[in-house]
This record gives sequence, C-alpha cells and structure tokens, in this order.
Amino acid sequence: MAKQTIKDIDIRGKRVLIRVDVNVPLDKATGRITDETRIRQSLPTIRYALEQGASIVLMSHLGRPDGQRVASMSLKPVAEAVGTLLGQPVAFLPDCVGPEVASRVKALKPGEIAVLENLRFHPEEEANDPAFARQLAELGEIYVNDAFGTAHRAHASTEGIARHLPAVAGFLMEKEITYLDEALANPQRPYVAILGGAKVSDKIGVLRRLLERVDRVLIGGGMAYTFLKAQGHAIGSSKLEADKVALAKDLLAQAAARKVPVLLPLDHVITTSLEPGSETKSIADVDIPGGWLGADIGLSTIDAFLKALSPAKTVVWNGPLGVCEQPRFRDGSRRIAELVATLKAVTVIGGGDTAACVQLLGLASRMSHISTGGGASLEFLEGKALPGIAILNDRADMRSGLRAVGSGQLPRAPSPEP
Ligand code: AMP
Repeated sequence: MAKQTIKDIDIRGKRVLIRVDVNVPLDKATGRITDETRIRQSLPTIRYALEQGASIVLMSHLGRPDGQRVASMSLKPVAEAVGTLLGQPVAFLPDCVGPEVASRVKALKPGEIAVLENLRFHPEEEANDPAFARQLAELGEIYVNDAFGTAHRAHASTEGIARHLPAVAGFLMEKEITYLDEALANPQRPYVAILGGAKVSDKIGVLRRLLERVDRVLIGGGMAYTFLKAQGHAIGSSKLEADKVALAKDLLAQAAARKVPVLLPLDHVITTSLEPGSETKSIADVDIPGGWLGADIGLSTIDAFLKALSPAKTVVWNGPLGVCEQPRFRDGSRRIAELVATLKAVTVIGGGDTAACVQLLGLASRMSHISTGGGASLEFLEGKALPGIAILNDRADMRSGLRAVGSGQLPRAPSPEP
C-alpha cells in the first residue's frame, strides 16, 4: 500500500490520537446505541495500539450538531460501549480541546484510553480551522486515521491535524484503500460494475470513470429509469431526473464507443406507489404503463444480470437494484447479491445504502469488502483524491528516509528481535 499504516511506525509508549468513525445510530427516546458495528470495526486498531503499550485518545464526530453542543449527540454512550467491548475502563472527556482536556490526556498512562467529546460541537472542526487542528494535534504524538467514512472531507480531525504529526492509516482505513484503490486499479477480468440506487446525478462521475475500466456495466434501481427514458421507453411515474436524460444518452453513447456493454432493465416489478399496501405486479415488458412506477428489476433482467456476472473476477457494486428497504422490492438485489457472494472474485460493495442492503440480506460476510463510507467510496471510485488519505505519510518517504508530513521525523517500526 502507498500509505504508511500504524504497523510501519513505533508507537510503543506513545500517545496515539486515533480518528475513528463511531457515528453510530442512537435511539431517539432512550439515547441508547442501536447498532455498534462502527465501534466494533474500530477495535482492531485500538487493540493493536493497546498491545503496543500506547496510550490512546479516540476522537470522532456523531450526527450533525452543526457546531453547537447538542446533548443528544454526545459521545458519552460511545465511550461506555468502547469500555464494555474492550473490557477495560475508558475515560470520557467533556470536550475535545481546552486546558482540562489537554491535562487529562497528558496524564494518560500506557494502555489507558480516553474518548473526546464530539468534534462537531465546534464549528472549527468542519471548517478545518488551522488553530483548532493544531490544538487537536497537541493532544497526541502520533496521528492515526481509521475513519474512511469522513476521509472525503477536509476537516480539522481528518486533514488539518495531519499537518502537525506523523500521520498513518489504521487497519480499517488500510482495508478500504487496499480494496477500493489497489484491487480496482489492477482488476482481474472480467471486471463488472453494478450501479443502482436512487439518483443518476450521484453516480455520473463514477459511471464515467468506470466506463474507462470495466468490461460491462449493469444498471438497475431508480437511476435506470432516466436511462430507459433516454432510450425512448415509457417509464410511467418511475423515478426520473428529467434534466439528466441528455446526459444519460451521452453516457450510453460513450459506453458504445468504448464497446462496453451497458445492461438496463428488460422487465420490472411495478407498483402504484411506494407506500405500504400499494398494488404491485410483475410485467414482462420494458415499457411501464402510466400510473405505475418501477420499484425492482424483473425476472428476465435478473437472468440477464446473473449471466453477465457469472464469469466476473472483479465486481464493484454501488446502489441497490430496487427499493431494498421493502421486502416486496428486494428480490432483484437479493438474487444478484446471492450470486456475487458465491463468485471466486474480488467483490467490493459501496457503503451507505448498498452496504445496508447486503447486510439486510445476510450476505455481508461473503463479500471481499464492504466499504464503511457511502460518500467516500463514491468519491474514491470517481478517482478523486480523498483529503484524509492524501495527507497521510507515503511509504515511499519511509524508504527514502525523507521527513514525514508534519513537524517531526517519523518514528520507525522497531526491528524484529534477533
Ligand atoms: P443511493 O443512496 O443513491 O444508492 O440510493 C439508495 C436508495 O435508492 C434506496 O433507498 C432505494 O430504496 C432507492 N431505490 C432503489 N431502486 C429504486 C427505484 N426503482 N425507485 C425508487 N427508489 C429506488
């Protein structure tokens, strides 16, 4: 991997600041965490740092408090959950900067952990304020970014801070980079992209980029209807981005020029509305009658998609193929996910709704990689540089003995015991 990881440096006895993404869902009424997945995903990096005898300062955002102190978005329940999962006491600090925080952090002993209060209680975090970033940096000696989900944002805790400290990737971040960057940069072929989800506008950049790399593209979900409209089909009241029809035509022409087959739905499961209890039926036709909307791909489409996917050696999938939240519109995504799960291939699933859909289907553990970042994985696939990754120390610098990004010489990993 091009970036240094926590294993490349000597963190023994050091105070390590780890940016995690523990933006977990909370129950509105009780304030309890309803899904601890993000906390559990952060544990390997935390455990490794503990084993190395580092003291650990964890920082994260939670929700969108917009620079205000919002009691319901406190990281206190997260600190408690981290303590329970690790089976050791975890200190929760009442803020993320300031003299009290600084002195309590400096008093941490090797093997101790503190969790800072929500970074976004300060507007300076999202503004990437340099003075705020410096204050955060002063809390540690080494910075580890394990928060892929926010790596596409240049915030103080993801970008500004790394200007002051040796900055490396945690294990979760390393896995994201390995799959989204390296596996997809040198894919085994055939390489097939599956795109779905609600909107064409979110996926234009990704589709453009993928057309340069993949061997075929399968398009389903709400975004397919703008493409079908561009081909002159009737789409009833299906999801349509009227201002993107010309663009859809253009993308199909680009794909044809590159000889990349684009498979669109051939038939559908349609409904009168997405409200529960609405009338639903399957149609064998690509055209959708007035008053009906396409909510899932139909059986012929599923067959065509399965055929196109079965020889794949690399698959990237972003966006559910139907309204996956409702069981009656989940079959398309389910059948495709079941096949992808059995392929002897590198299978990479985008974050956000696609990850949620695959989890709902119980197939998450059978994919090579499920991204933890929705927006971040999309930007990565578009080929954009993510500020939270770009700023991390390069391995090449380590080999050439160059100074690390930030103020200090990067500490090296200890040589193995003879
Ligand atoms: P995205 O975040 O762009 O991947 O979109 C995910 C959303 O697309 C999910 O909430 C799905 O319910 C929705 N979706 C998938 N297929 C359709 C469809 N045919 N019509 C409307 N929404 C859809």
